[in-house]
Amino acid sequence: MADGKRFDLAGKRVFVAGHRGMVGAALLRRLSREPVALVTASRDELDLTRQADVEAWMAAQRPQVVIVAAAKVGGILANDTWPVEFLEQNLLIELNLIRSAFRVGVEKLLFLGSSCIYPKHSPQPIKEDYLLTGPLEPTNEWYALAKIAGIKLCQAYRKQHGAEFISAMPTNLYGPGDNFDLATSHVVPALVRKMHEAKREGAASVAVWGTGSPRREFLHVDDLADACVFLLERWSGSEPVNVGCGEDVTIRELAELVRAVVGYQGELVFDPTKPDGTPRKLLDVSRLAALGWRPRIGLREGLAGTYAWFLANAAAARGLAGAAA
Ligand code: GDP
Repeated sequence: MADGKRFDLAGKRVFVAGHRGMVGAALLRRLSREPVALVTASRDELDLTRQADVEAWMAAQRPQVVIVAAAKVGGILANDTWPVEFLEQNLLIELNLIRSAFRVGVEKLLFLGSSCIYPKHSPQPIKEDYLLTGPLEPTNEWYALAKIAGIKLCQAYRKQHGAEFISAMPTNLYGPGDNFDLATSHVVPALVRKMHEAKREGAASVAVWGTGSPRREFLHVDDLADACVFLLERWSGSEPVNVGCGEDVTIRELAELVRAVVGYQGELVFDPTKPDGTPRKLLDVSRLAALGWRPRIGLREGLAGTYAWFLANAAAARGLAGAAA
């Protein structure tokens, strides 16, 4: 920690914004093992894009710790298709939460960004200080710009007011509670669902978007949640902290792994008419490693757990009405 002090979460009122999402739900699971009082707000109760409502809610609830896990998120095609929603909703959510957290005297705030904030052609692995050193990947620049604004807002509150606002940049995440809607999902839930359905229907092949050659790093969402608790307690600084496993695979390798986990025997057919996105985004995780944190869940094990979750929760999962039946 920059100043050597440890922040003690014990006894704090912790507001997890976005608790219905994959990340927020994992944070609730992880924080339920800590001696904290959890505070959440459902979408019906609080629309995070409405400034006056967020201010009133925060003033009434008075959380001492805030985790900004609420965001408009989506895969490569969704980002590219709805630039207005990705830019606007993310700016509104983070501005409302960060600003009102400061106003009610929140002791510590953790803002969650994403590895897509870094320049498209960053040297690999990507260090935190490559931020704003080059142009962004066009398929997700709207989301990335909003997330960069969130990091900067935390830095501004720290610089001008000494606020304990920190940010973490997770790599590509996957796990239970993911979005399995093929039009908006990320690659892992998409491949899990496609392979499962192809196996069930005896289909000869599954379409995998792009060329299969982009490389991605994948982190299980339960590992991210653990890292968030770790950073809240141990990190104080204006620089963001990358959260990843330090290893990446090609999309082809990922698809082979999902095929093995699902037990699908058919072929993989790559569709180069769909976008590849950035060629590679492997995070340099040495800052987090130096603090003493390591992920625990390997990719194969994590994918197997995700498939098991999919099978058990298909009816209730987002974007999945009856898909695993
Ligand atoms: P990204 O990391 O922002 O590019 O997000 P995604 O998880 O959506 O995509 C990662 C990579 O997986 C891209 O190269 C996609 O083209 C590739 N991919 C392959 N098949 C699929 C699929 O069915 N859905 C998605 N979302 N991506 C896929």
